[in-house]
Parts: sequence; structure tokens; C-alpha cells
Amino acid sequence: MATKKQLSAEERFRLLAENSSDIVYQTSGLDIEWISPSVTRALGWLPEELIGRPAATLVSSHQDLSFVETNRDRLEHGQDVSQELLIRSKDGSEQWYSGVAHPLLEADGTLHGFVVGMRNIHNKVQTRLRLQESEEKFRTAMVNAAIAVAICNAEGRVVDANAAMTDFLARESSQLRGQNIADLIGAEDPRHTDTLHRDLLAGSRDSYRTRSRSALADGFVRHGDLSVSAVRSTTGEVQWLVYQVLDMTEQVHARERLTELATIDTVTGLPNRPTIAQRLAETITDTVRWGGSVGVLLVGIDRFRTVNDTLGHQAGDALLREIGIRLRQAVGQRADVGRYGSDEFVLVIPGAANHDDLAGTASAVRAALGHDFEVRGRRIVLTSSMGAAISTPDSTAATVIEHASVALSEAKRAGRAQLQVFDEVMASAAAFRLKVESELRAALDGSEFAVYYQPVIDLGNRGIVGHEALVRWQHPVDGLTGPASFIGVAEDSGLIVQIGQQVLRQVCVDIAANALTGTVAVNTSAVELSDPAWLDSVLTTIHSHRVDPTRLVIELTETAVMTTNRDVKTDLSVLRNLGVGIHVDDFGTGFSSVSLLRDLPITGVKLDQSFVAVLDSGRQSAEHALAHGLMQLASSLGMTGIAEGVERPEQAEILHTMGWPLAQGYLFGRREPLPA
Ligand code: C2E
Ligand code: CA
Ligand code: CA
Repeated sequence: MATKKQLSAEERFRLLAENSSDIVYQTSGLDIEWISPSVTRALGWLPEELIGRPAATLVSSHQDLSFVETNRDRLEHGQDVSQELLIRSKDGSEQWYSGVAHPLLEADGTLHGFVVGMRNIHNKVQTRLRLQESEEKFRTAMVNAAIAVAICNAEGRVVDANAAMTDFLARESSQLRGQNIADLIGAEDPRHTDTLHRDLLAGSRDSYRTRSRSALADGFVRHGDLSVSAVRSTTGEVQWLVYQVLDMTEQVHARERLTELATIDTVTGLPNRPTIAQRLAETITDTVRWGGSVGVLLVGIDRFRTVNDTLGHQAGDALLREIGIRLRQAVGQRADVGRYGSDEFVLVIPGAANHDDLAGTASAVRAALGHDFEVRGRRIVLTSSMGAAISTPDSTAATVIEHASVALSEAKRAGRAQLQVFDEVMASAAAFRLKVESELRAALDGSEFAVYYQPVIDLGNRGIVGHEALVRWQHPVDGLTGPASFIGVAEDSGLIVQIGQQVLRQVCVDIAANALTGTVAVNTSAVELSDPAWLDSVLTTIHSHRVDPTRLVIELTETAVMTTNRDVKTDLSVLRNLGVGIHVDDFGTGFSSVSLLRDLPITGVKLDQSFVAVLDSGRQSAEHALAHGLMQLASSLGMTGIAEGVERPEQAEILHTMGWPLAQGYLFGRREPLPA
């Protein structure tokens, strides 16, 4: 260094000139006074072509020359000045040089001129410009990108973020700069993402993608599809990390809504059947662990169908919604409430251990549903039947629900509006019913059903005017069995529909074979009437056996008509118009006898046995008066009257006196009905 300082301007000048690849020139004022011969090789000029001309001759017309003024000051103060220059060759082509100007001062300190050394840096500048250009392009792309982009340093501190990113995170870019990106864009699966990120930093991968979640200041969560890539230096060091996030919030919410729809009952907003079953399973697992038990209460809304039928489905839905709300309020945190079936709700009660626990919840439910509902301006009074069961250590969700369901059926069978808790008696009754049901199925296939007939007698002349068909089961073990022991199970299981078809078929066969005189009455239960295919099936059977429809009578109880879920009036009218008789069975025991007689195409009534059984010539009972009144009602409506269960001659006598024209009973013929 010391020696360099001692070099004179001339010496330096010579040294530079000797360096063949560089160009050196000296000016006087602004004109070239001398220039190194290397200029010829580099730029094509001969030195003598340039000497005496302004140094600016060498500079491209594209170069901004304003630097000359600013540099002059420093040169006058004896300072060196360096500058990048776009230099023009003789042929007009242009190259980048870096120039260093050194002032030459006169003895009095005034600026004589300067010596300039120039080195070709064209390639370097080109590379730099290209880089600048691509960076510029990248920046433009990033700034305008719809996708959210943040550039971070290797530590993950935000250096820059585009508008989409500030929108996505709902923060100003000034708030983002310097922040740890991981605090802003968290990974959905942090453990896996950590591994990916480590690989990225270590260089074993260039990028990775993952699902992200970002909690905004207001608590809203934005979901994203995040991709992180590394920009490395030539030596492989991570210089920048580029975070790009595609906003997936809407898609994620849409997906969540879909799963919600699959788990929520749309009418009531309560968990649906599979969901509540799942929760019950989880509750059982949790509870069994500490040795506890779980109660399940099934709540069936009594006669809900009537609401649907009379007020319409929308009113029915509104009612169900209200029931759901009341149930939830009634049980609060004590139980999970779900919708179990069309008119059934299920309550899962963790910790319920005994009958009292269940009864407590049941009475809360009863109280909640006990006051009137108002739907579309109509007051509705509801009752509910409830079945409950408690889990045992080896219960599954399915068995507890099944038990509660058995208990609910029992509650309904026992007259509704009450609670039944599943117990061992019920369990064995249910098992028995199940056994009967499977035997009934076998009986249908094995034609074990037979039809017996009881004659209908004209009380005036004691002649047979018709018959009632009564089903019998030739049980393989128990022998001939009456309907009392199996009709209930057949109705509950729906098997009565097929049994009824077999009975009607046999009746038609017997009529067609001329085995019976007069009309034949066939009993029809509510379950059969509720089957939309019932009428078709009856018509097909009648037609295929070419039976005169006037030979047939359908017997229905009032309760059967009241509890069917269809409007049976049309079906009955079709049969009536063909000549089929329609009789009301067990007349006098139902609730709405008169309106039923008026509204349906009824042709006859069958006085219930209970009225007949108490008829005694010695006494005048209330039944006596009723039997009399019912006869007058029937005859005033132009209907046939048949008294049932006549066992003693005086009963026949009294009935005849009252005006009952026809009768059935053990008195006429053998004690029991007989096959055709
Ligand atoms: P129901 O329609 O009231 O039939 C009269 C029942 O009283 C018959 O019982 C009959 O055997 C019995 N009975 C007849 N005369 C006398 C008598 O003088 N004294 C007494 N104490 N009883 C008498 P059964 O055959 O056991 O039938 C019971 C019930 O089963 C029937 O009551 C009917 O509701 C139902 N049922 C019978 N057959 C069928 C059928 O094919 N389909 C359907 N759905 N139900 C049937
Ligand atoms: Ca009957
Ligand atoms: Ca009867």
C-alpha cells in the first residue's frame, strides 16, 4: 500500500496502460489527450481517431450523463470516482464497462483533467440485469397474484407479502413484516409438517404442501392449501422461503356442512339416529371404564300420525321441532337428545343407574310435553309413551336401544302415556314374541293356518244365513291354537297381512266349492287396513276365485279404523260398491260408534259379546238397556244387527225381543267353530 501511494500519476498511468484488456485514457479538460492502444482491440477505434475528441464520444447515447456533473465536484476535490458506463464501439455496438476516474490536478490545485481506467464488465452487468428483470417479473407476479404469497427469510420471518396474503390474514402488510410465519399460517397437522419443513431446510426437498389453518384476530378460522418452497443461493443455502396459500375456507365449510347434514336431523336440528347411536356407544365406553352405567329413554309421541294427517306434514314438522326444543330444555346437560324415528326421540342419560334415575328424567319429559302445543294457530295436546333401559357391563349401543325399544312397545301396548323400564320379564316376553314371530313365518310357508267357521243364525227361524271365518293355527307342537295367542304378535310384526291373505283365499276357495251357505265374514285388523296394497290384494283374490262379492263381508273393529294410518273410506267404498258387506265388529266397545257409522259405508254391526254375556231374564242391567239402544240405532240407520257370544237360550230370546235379527254363539251348533 505504501509504495502505491508514492507512485506518480504517470507511473500509474503506465501501469494501467500495460494491462492489455483494460482501456485507459487521459483527458485534458473533457477531451481525450491520450488513450491506450488496447482501445483498438476492445472497441475498434484507433487512438488517433479519438485523441482530441470529447471523452463522451466513447459513451453510448443511451447512457444518462448526469453523473458527470455530480462526479465533477468530487474530482475537483481530488477524489477518485467510479462509475458504470455503457461504452460505444466504433461499429455502434455497446458494452458495459466499469470506469475509475482519477483527477489530475495542476500545481495550483486546479483540475487539469483525469485519468480513466475502464474494465469490461459486460457479462456481469448482463447477468445482473437479467436477474433484476426476473426478480421484477416475480415481484409483479407475486404482487398481482390471486394466491396469497409471503416471502420469508430462512428463519421464517416475513419479509414481504402480497395483497392476497394481507387479505387472507386480514392484516396490514406492515403488521406482517418481521412476524413468524408459523404464527400466522399454522399447519393442520403440525407434526407431519415439521418433518417436511426440516427436510426443506436440510435440502432434501425443494417444496412441500400441506393443509393450513389461520386464526384471524376476530377468531374466524381460514383454511388453506399451503405450499412452501425454498429459494437457495448457488451454495445451496436457503435464502428465502416462499409461502403460498390457496384459500380453501369455503370448500372446507361446504364439506363440514355436508357432514353435518349427514349427522343432523333436518327437521329438528337434533342428532339423527346413527349419530345418537354413535354417541351412545362412546358414552357406554367412557362410562364402563369407571364402572358406571348409561340410561336410554325412548320417547314415542302418541298418535303423532293424526297430527300429520289432519294438519299436514309442515305442521307435523313444526310440532316435532317444538318437541325437540322442549326435550332439550327439559333435560339440559343431563342427557343427549336425538331424533330416533318419525315420532320417536331418544335420550342418552350418562350415569343413570336405576329405575328412579330414569323415572326422574321421564317425569321431566312428561312435564315438558304436557302443556299444550300451538301449531298454526291450533292447540295440540300430546301424550308420550316412554321405554327405558339401562346399560350393563356387556351392553352395546344396539342392545340398550333395542331394550328401550321393547320397553316402548310394551308401554304402547299397555295403553300409552306411560313409562316402561326394560326388565327380565319384559326380556323373556320379548324373546317369546320373537319365537312366536319366527314360528309364524314358518307357519305361513307350511300352510299351518286353517279357517274355521261359526254360523250366523236368523233368530226368527233359527236358519243359517251366513258364517264368520275364524283363523286357527295347527301348531306343530302345541296343536290347534286360537288367534288370541298369536294375533298380537302377527300384528306387531306385520305378518297378519299375509295371514289375512291366506284366510281370505281359503274363504274364497270354500265359497267357490259351495261348502258354505250365505255370506262369509272375514276379520280384518288395523295393520291390514293400513297396508296400501290391501284393497288390490282383496280384489285380486275375489276375482281369481270368481266369487260373487255379495257373498263376502269385511269385519272391522272401530279401533282398527281409528288407528289405521290411511284414509280407508275410499277402499271400503270400492268394496261396498261391488256388493261386499262391511260390518263393525265388537260394536259398542269403541269410542266413536255413531260418527263411524255415519262416515263409512257400513252395512251391519256386531254387538259385542260383553253385552250378551250379562243378559239375564231375571235382571235389567245397564248392558240390557244399551243392547236395546244399540239395536234401535242400527236399525234406524238401516243396518243389519248380529249379536255375538250367545250361549244360553234365554239370551237368544231377549235379543230377539229387543229386535236383534241375527246372532252367533256356542248355542247354535257345536261349542266351537268348525272347518267348512
Ligand atoms: P271376534 O271377531 O270377536 O270373534 C269372535 C270370537 O268369539 C271367536 O274367538 C269365537 O270363537 C268366539 N266365540 C264365538 N262364539 C262364542 C260364544 O258363544 N262364547 C264365547 N265365549 N266365545 C265365542 P276366536 O276364534 O278365538 O277369535 C278371537 C279374535 O281373533 C276374533 O274376535 C278376531 O278379532 C280375531 N280373529 C279371528 N280370526 C281372524 C282372522 O282371520 N283375521 C284377523 N285379523 N283376526 C281374526
Ligand atoms: Ca269378528
Ligand atoms: Ca266380535
